[in-house]
Amino acid sequence: MFSYRHAFHAANHADVLKHTVLLAILRHLTQKDTALTVFDTHAGAGLYRLDGDFAQTSAEASEGFLRLVAPDALPQPLAPALQDYLELVASFNTPGSHKSYKIYPGSPFIIQRLLRERDKLKLFELHPTDSKSLSANIAQLEAGRQIAILREDGFEGLKKFLPPPTRRALVLCDPSYEIKTDYARVVDLVADSLQRFATGCYAIWYPIIPRPEAHDLPKRLKTLANKAHKDWLGATLSVKSSKLLHDDMGNTVRPGLPASGMFIINPPHTLKAALAQALPQILAVLKQDQHAAFALSS
Ligand code: SAM
Repeated sequence: MFSYRHAFHAANHADVLKHTVLLAILRHLTQKDTALTVFDTHAGAGLYRLDGDFAQTSAEASEGFLRLVAPDALPQPLAPALQDYLELVASFNTPGSHKSYKIYPGSPFIIQRLLRERDKLKLFELHPTDSKSLSANIAQLEAGRQIAILREDGFEGLKKFLPPPTRRALVLCDPSYEIKTDYARVVDLVADSLQRFATGCYAIWYPIIPRPEAHDLPKRLKTLANKAHKDWLGATLSVKSSKLLHDDMGNTVRPGLPASGMFIINPPHTLKAALAQALPQILAVLKQDQHAAFALSS
C-alpha cells in the first residue's frame, strides 16, 4: 500500500499554488447557472491540522501557507485571487493572530465551499486511512447526496462519469506521483477524458523535480491539448533550487520539493490575468533563494 500521506505536506507551497488556482477556476465556473459537477480524482483526507504531529514533523506549512499569513508578509492591495484564497482558509479557523491557524482545508473542502445546491462533488480516495478520515470529515457537512466519496482508483473511476449530465464539469487530478506510473496514468486520463468530454475543464497538478517523467509531463499534456484544439494554461511556482545539498558530514541531502505546476485545459478566460497578479505576490513571500520564480504560459 502507498506510504504517501498528504497530512505531511498540507499547506506547503505546492498546496498554495494548487488551491489558489483551484479556487479561481471555481469562482468562474460557478457564475453560470447550469449545474456543475466537480471531480477530485485524488482527494486526500479533506481537512488537515496544522498543529498536529504530521504537520509539525515536516514543517512544510511553515514554509508555505503560514508564511503568507505572518504579520506584514504581504503587500497591499492584495491580488483578488490571493485574497480570496487567504479568506477561504481563514474561514476554517478562529480569528486571531497567524499563530491561530490550526486547520487547513484540502481540495474537497475548498470545492465544497463553492458548490451551489444543484452542483455535485465526487471524491476519489484510495488510501484506507485517508478515505476513512475523508468520510468522517465530509459527514460533518451533512451534504447528503451532493457529495459522493468513492474508495476507488480515481484514474479509472472517473471514466464512468464522463460526460456528466449537465455537460459542465471540473476535474482536479492531483496524484501523489509516489508511483512512477502515475505520470503516464495522468496522460492516459487526460487523453481518455478529452475523448469522452472535450469541453470539460481539467486541472492537473504535477511536481517539478529532476526526473524524466516529471519533466515530460507538462509537454505531453500540451501536446494532448493542442491535438484536441483546446486552450491550455500552465502555471508554475518554484521556491528554491532543485540542486542536491550536502550536510556537514558530506552526506547528500534532498532539498525537499522545490517547485510544482498546474496545467489547465479549457481554463476560464479570466484565469491567466488573475494568476498574473497573484503569483508575484506569492513568490515574494515564499521564495527561499535566488532560483525562485513563477511562470505562466498558454
Ligand atoms: N487533492 C488533495 C488536496 O489538494 O487537498 C491532496 C491529494 S494527495 C496529493 C494525493 C492523494 O491520492 C493521497 O491521499 C493518496 O492516498 C491518494 N491516491 C493515491 N493513488 C490513488 C488512486 N489511484 N486513486 C485515488 N486516490 C489515490
